[in-house]
Amino acid sequence: PTSRALPGPEEVADLARSAAQACGADLPAHQGDREGRSPVNGAVISRLAWTSPEDVDAAVEAARAAYLGWRTVPAPARGAVVKRWAQLLVEHQVDLATLVTLEAGKVTSEALGEVQEMIDICDLAVGLSRQLFGRTIASERPGHRLMETWHPLGVVGVISAFNFPVAVWSWNTALALVCGDPVVWKPSERTPLCALAAHGLLQRALEEGGYDASVAQVLLGGPEVGEALVAHPGVALVSATGSTRMGRAVGPVVAARFGRSLLELGGNNAAVVAPSADLGLATRGIVFSAAGTAGQRCTTMRRAIVHSSVVDELVERVAAAYRNLPVGDPSADGTLVGPLLDRRSFDAFTAALGAAVEAGGEVVVGGGRELTEAAPDAYYVRPAVVRMPAQAEVVHTETFAPILYVLSYETLEEAVALNNAVPQGLSSSIFTRDQAEAELFCSVVGSDCGIVNVNIGTSGAEIGGAFGGEKETGGGRESGSDAWRAYMRRATTTVNYSGELPLAQGVTFEV
Ligand code: NAD
Repeated sequence: PTSRALPGPEEVADLARSAAQACGADLPAHQGDREGRSPVNGAVISRLAWTSPEDVDAAVEAARAAYLGWRTVPAPARGAVVKRWAQLLVEHQVDLATLVTLEAGKVTSEALGEVQEMIDICDLAVGLSRQLFGRTIASERPGHRLMETWHPLGVVGVISAFNFPVAVWSWNTALALVCGDPVVWKPSERTPLCALAAHGLLQRALEEGGYDASVAQVLLGGPEVGEALVAHPGVALVSATGSTRMGRAVGPVVAARFGRSLLELGGNNAAVVAPSADLGLATRGIVFSAAGTAGQRCTTMRRAIVHSSVVDELVERVAAAYRNLPVGDPSADGTLVGPLLDRRSFDAFTAALGAAVEAGGEVVVGGGRELTEAAPDAYYVRPAVVRMPAQAEVVHTETFAPILYVLSYETLEEAVALNNAVPQGLSSSIFTRDQAEAELFCSVVGSDCGIVNVNIGTSGAEIGGAFGGEKETGGGRESGSDAWRAYMRRATTTVNYSGELPLAQGVTFEV
């Protein structure tokens, strides 16, 4: 099931260039000496110029100038731009997905799904553009009206991670744009072609609508460009997605200047498998969440907490599926597991497995490198399942690679305690046919995560709900539900039409 043919270096470079250009990426204007490599085969697929931290100021100032006009465009008219953007995304879904595969290594179906998420959030934002409402509240004073109005916030800085190179930006941008905010985007330095292509489509939608294209900007570059954006006092909201390490640096800088931040950081997600679980369903849910995307999603399942009465059978079923997982070229039909990002990811995978074994773990399946000869500069691995005697230190850490640690439990309280014992709080799930158990897991004494699923794995959220997690995951929420409020500011207004001046709380102040 492993040896899937890999495309040659020139083939991927050509494919990347033509897909980016089809989306309107202006490659000549961004030409430079920073090489970008594809995780598919390690080939160089881009040579681009990075922005310097000094250029960040000009971008933010241009966005601030554009804000003055954009905030006065009626929200439904802003929605019309997003509607056009969605049409362009539909038209170029395959181009953009090709770039996601070539730069992030996602298998075709997941890459197409990532672009579908962009289209879905645009749909949501277009509807929302007619629904940005506040409340009218009963005033305690006669002849008074108490109400709230939501106004645009200002420039939104978006920092995104390599593993969702376009969707996360669009979750933020589609909402920010209808809310009346310009967006300055610092994409992952690993996925610059995805960024230029996605940005190209949005630019086209803005230009066709006759709007100032500075409303959306992209700054290629590494952490130092992100740092300059985060520190800029002209950025009202910083929405940053990436590792907890990055969030730990970003959060205090934004807080110190009283800016707002929306942090979407690392996860360490678990599934509880109860004695009554449908083990076939649980196996499928676990394999998709744990091995899919080669373990490189923030919602990847990293822990299975399985009742002692079913743990042996479940491990055997999962291991059997893992042995047959097609690992290889992510663009080939039937591949389910593509490459790790790079050598560093592979080293982290190997080191974590070593630490797990040292802590008494037993590697049941996987852990080795694959396609080493066919792709010496790429890092393909067989996803690993490791049985652990206890939730050791390594299990508390997010290793961004496909390792599933299996723990066992006796009581549901114990399972919940294990689920909640890690510092991260993004996603969680329970597989059970016992309704009381499912309800308990979803209740206040259950999972402490931002996402709590029943009979589904931990990954693969829909955009209709708010997305994000607690504790070291950062506390931010983006995408659906009322996440739009993070991109606006609220004004509370009291209008007095009584001709008298009664004071609140019955206070008297006669002059
Ligand atoms: P990363 O933290 O290395 O980089 C993320 C982004 O932050 C990049 O654009 C990077 O240039 C920038 N950056 C890094 N340090 C910075 C700093 N000090 N100031 C400003 N910007 C800085 O993460 P990655 O390897 O690209 O992505 C994997 C990580 O992202 C995992 O931890 C994963 O769980 C997390 N992630 C979280 C979510 C979520 O929604 N919670 C989604 C996707 C990925």
